[in-house]
Amino acid sequence: QAKLAGKNCFRYYSRAMDHAVERRLHLEQELRGAWERNELRLVYQPIFRTRDRMLCGAEVLLRWDHPVLGAIPPSLFIDVAEQSGLIQVLGPKVLRAACEQAKRWPRNAIGEELFISVNVSPKQLRNGNLLQEVESSLLGSGLAASRLHLELTETAVIGDEMLAVSLLEKLHRAGVRVWLDDFGTGFSGLSHLRQVPVDGVKIDRSFVADMERDADDLALTTAIIAMAHALGITVVAEGVEQEAQFELLSQRGCDLVQGYWLARPLDAPGLVSLLEQGSMAALR
Ligand code: C2E
Ligand code: MG
Ligand code: MG
Ligand code: MG
Repeated sequence: QAKLAGKNCFRYYSRAMDHAVERRLHLEQELRGAWERNELRLVYQPIFRTRDRMLCGAEVLLRWDHPVLGAIPPSLFIDVAEQSGLIQVLGPKVLRAACEQAKRWPRNAIGEELFISVNVSPKQLRNGNLLQEVESSLLGSGLAASRLHLELTETAVIGDEMLAVSLLEKLHRAGVRVWLDDFGTGFSGLSHLRQVPVDGVKIDRSFVADMERDADDLALTTAIIAMAHALGITVVAEGVEQEAQFELLSQRGCDLVQGYWLARPLDAPGLVSLLEQGSMAALR
C-alpha cells in the first residue's frame, strides 16, 4: 500500500516537475529571437537626488511582451536567460541600446547629463567579455564613460572576489562606475565594502519596505549609509513607495532614491518629457 502511494506520489511530483521544466524550456525557445522579433523593449526608471529632488539618472529595465503569453515578468525571464546562457547574447544588446538611448537624452533642468544604470548578470560578469562589451558600447554610442553605471549584485561580486576585484579595477580604468545592487541581502555586506572597489551601493527594496515598521531594518539602513559614506561610496535606495520612506532616507543622508513614489519605469519619450517638465520629483 505504502509502496503504491509512494509510486503515485512520485508520479505526481514528476508530472508537476515536467510541467515546470517544459514551461521553462518553452520560454527559453520563445526568448531566443525575441529581440529580433521586437518583443523586448527597454524602460527607464528615473533616479533622483534627495538633496534637490533633481532627476539625475535612470536604471534601464528589460520588458518582454510576448504576442501570446503577454507580459512576462523580468524575475522569470531574466532567470531563464541566465540559466540558459541567453543572457550572454541579450546583455550586450541591452548595454549597447541603453548607451545609445542615454546619448540622446537632453540635460536636466540644471544642465547636468544623466547617467544610465545597466544591470549586469553574474554570468556576464564571469564570461570574460564584459570589459570589451562596455568599451565597444561606449565607442559605438559615443556616450561618455562616466555616464555609464553598471549594477552588479552583491552576491555575484562576493562569490568570486579575486576575479571581481581585478575586473572592477579594469572597469574603473575604463571610466565607468560600478554599483552593488540589492545591497544588504547577501549579509556579507559591510565588511566586504572595504575590499571591493565600488562607487555605490543600492540598498535592497526589502529594507526600504520595512524601514518604518522594523527597527532592525531602519538601523541597518542607517548603518549602511554611514558606513558607505565613511568609505566615500554613494548610497541609492530602491523601492521608495511612500513619502515617509523618502523622508527617513533623506534625513539619514541617502544620496539617491528610486521608486514608485517618485516615478515608475518609463519608455524613452516618457523620460524625455519628465526632463522637459523640469526634472523634479513631484512635491505632493
Ligand atoms: P533590480 O535591478 O533590483 O531592479 C529594480 C526592480 O524593482 C525593478 O523590477 C523595478 O521595476 C522594481 N521597482 C522599482 N521601484 C519600485 C517600487 O517602488 N516598488 C516595487 N515594489 N518595485 C519597484 P523589474 O523591472 O521587475 O526587474 C526585476 C529584476 O530583473 C531587476 O531587479 C534586475 O535584477 C532584473 N533585470 C531587469 N532588467 C534587466 C536587464 O536588462 N539585465 C539584467 N541582467 N537583469 C535585469
Ligand atoms: Mg538593478
Ligand atoms: Mg535592486
Ligand atoms: Mg532586486
